[in-house]
Amino acid sequence: MHHPINAHENNTTTCCYCGVGCGIVAHKDQLGRLQVEGDKDYPVNKGMLCSKGMNLHYTVNDYSDRLLYPEMRYSRNLPRQRVSWEMALERTAAVFRTLIDKYGPDSVAFYASGQCLTEEYYIVNKLIKGYIGSNNIDTNSRLCMSSAVVGYKMSLGEDSVPVSYEDLEVADVIFVAGANPAWCHPVLWRRVEAARQTNPDLKIIVSDPRKTQTCSIADVHLQLHPGTDITLHHAIGRALIEKGYIDADFVNDHTEGFAQYRKQVFSKTIAEAAQVCGVEEEAIRQVADYIGRARGFMTLWTMGLNQSVVGVNKNLSLINLNLITGHIGKPGSGPLSLTGQPNAMGGREVGGLSNLLPAHRDLLNVQHRREVEDFWGIRPGTISDKPGLTATEMFDALEDGRLKAIWILCTNPLISLPDVRKAEAALKKAKFVVVQEISNKPETLAYADVVLPAAAWTEKEGTMTNAERRISYLNKIMEAPGEALPDATILCRFAQKMGFTGFDFENTAAIFNEHGALTAGTRMDISALNYELLKARRSVQWPFTEAAGKQGTSRLFEDHQFYTTSHRAQIHSFPDDNHSETPSPDYPLILTTGRIRDQWHTMSKTGKVNKLKQHISESFLEIHPEDATPRQIKENDLVVIKSRRGEVRIKARLSDTIKQGVVFLPMHWGKILGKDGNRANNLTNNLVDPKSKEPDFKFSAVAVYRYQKP
Ligand code: SF4
Repeated sequence: MHHPINAHENNTTTCCYCGVGCGIVAHKDQLGRLQVEGDKDYPVNKGMLCSKGMNLHYTVNDYSDRLLYPEMRYSRNLPRQRVSWEMALERTAAVFRTLIDKYGPDSVAFYASGQCLTEEYYIVNKLIKGYIGSNNIDTNSRLCMSSAVVGYKMSLGEDSVPVSYEDLEVADVIFVAGANPAWCHPVLWRRVEAARQTNPDLKIIVSDPRKTQTCSIADVHLQLHPGTDITLHHAIGRALIEKGYIDADFVNDHTEGFAQYRKQVFSKTIAEAAQVCGVEEEAIRQVADYIGRARGFMTLWTMGLNQSVVGVNKNLSLINLNLITGHIGKPGSGPLSLTGQPNAMGGREVGGLSNLLPAHRDLLNVQHRREVEDFWGIRPGTISDKPGLTATEMFDALEDGRLKAIWILCTNPLISLPDVRKAEAALKKAKFVVVQEISNKPETLAYADVVLPAAAWTEKEGTMTNAERRISYLNKIMEAPGEALPDATILCRFAQKMGFTGFDFENTAAIFNEHGALTAGTRMDISALNYELLKARRSVQWPFTEAAGKQGTSRLFEDHQFYTTSHRAQIHSFPDDNHSETPSPDYPLILTTGRIRDQWHTMSKTGKVNKLKQHISESFLEIHPEDATPRQIKENDLVVIKSRRGEVRIKARLSDTIKQGVVFLPMHWGKILGKDGNRANNLTNNLVDPKSKEPDFKFSAVAVYRYQKP
């Protein structure tokens, strides 16, 4: 099979793993195989790549698991057969039409991914919201950062990350809450480590029930009990107020809600809060002193805050610390939510969640719906005012029969969804399942009636937005193998088979231009941007307006005019309760799941690379010796982890770096020492935050005991 690299002058692209968004230059070696290196001219990584990024070429050069042709089956009892694109799309359109006619537009859904390119996201969102007439489009980003979206909207008025990575290099205090960037966002963390070398006054605070690699350069590690983040943030807020460290002018002139907040955080003493969190009172006061004296204070967070049944409140309570100290809209200051996927931000921008519309418009706002309908040239009222199903809701709806068909693209829900056995049972019940994928490995394929082979990273062009609002252009560098097609092409062809107009784009650039035009006049205006400019400038940060300059806007809110109706930032108040599942004598430990350094998501890409198995080759349960010893568990013993939903068998790794009473299991592996799908998510529950609908992955009550042969 020959897969030549295009004779393109500029083989630059962007890493397809985490939301840091490192720039990559691709080369062809003597054997014609892809090689990658960090792009020295790219502002994000300045030539650096982490272990995952520097081994990306292995995933591209290995075609052994690639889907090459469309496949289809006429009945669940029959095997799938190779078919033509024409036949696969014709049949899919016929089934969708029949279901929509019989059961209505809400009987079908698309479940997409933060790995989709912005153009793909735009098309799938337009297709279902504007033409099918349902809002049943959600993505795996719901599992990752939807609490941050709501947090930003509620506090700043819109889903707008106010800072840039360069702010981390001029901050005096960086508070990392519920994140391990040293492993999960490594290149960004290397920039912080470098800043530490040049600024000895830089203080780093980490809050995490685990003493992770990130803690190795922390001045303070607040090893809190899971679920007590709000209590901790409130206590820091109280300590800041007590010491007179708040910025009274900023609070008076540019915020609302401080008086209520003060009352709320004073409802617990710092000593009481310290006890709830399981940290030292003195450590909380020390952190407040560091923040209070800082000229630049940044907060940084990911899944430890987002993946929670109170994820939005965790976000708000942290952002409050920036607001009461006036640390926003100036160098080295502000809240920065890191994204786990490369284009979770692009998805947010085109409205690719079940409750959003393009350019950060709101589905529930009738004016916003009309603007989008006008732009798309569709009948007023076509866009439903009923929010669509979110990620976990889609699988609930498949199970109870409300949803008949699901189209899954670029994600692997049978490892990544919470309470995954329930999701698997739901997929079995679906009337019709379409899977659009690059690999023949994902478990989802077992349930697929139609399989559509997609082009992978470097095999298609498009754009992505990283965690600092930076839009980058990804060159097409390789030809896709077999008959695999870019996701946007597949979706447009399907839309045309459905008889919809508005999907006859000449090329990918035309999709980007349409998306850009729809942002005109909004706060994320990129209407003046196009592929030519992006290729020339390599990346820009939105908004990209005339006033913003050549590379766009690096920092928002420098004028302290927030996007709320009153133009004031909102300081929200709420109790510090956690609503997670309650541990009991039968399930006394708290399970938290997460990433390891060299694997990514469900390993469909990183799992192909031998080098990446050298760091950690198999999954494990991390448990504190004080929890292991009474259970007669020793290092490497096989243990059973049991929750109210399922169990997993795995080897134990004893470590005093984890909080006593807490155990940790990596999220990546599908089958662990068992043939029946012993996935980490057999154990998790599908409780969700009521506002963001993000699941509570970081808090499941479990029992752990040594495995005894029956
Ligand atoms: Fe890729 Fe993230 Fe590593 Fe950069 S830090 S190389 S974007 S995985």
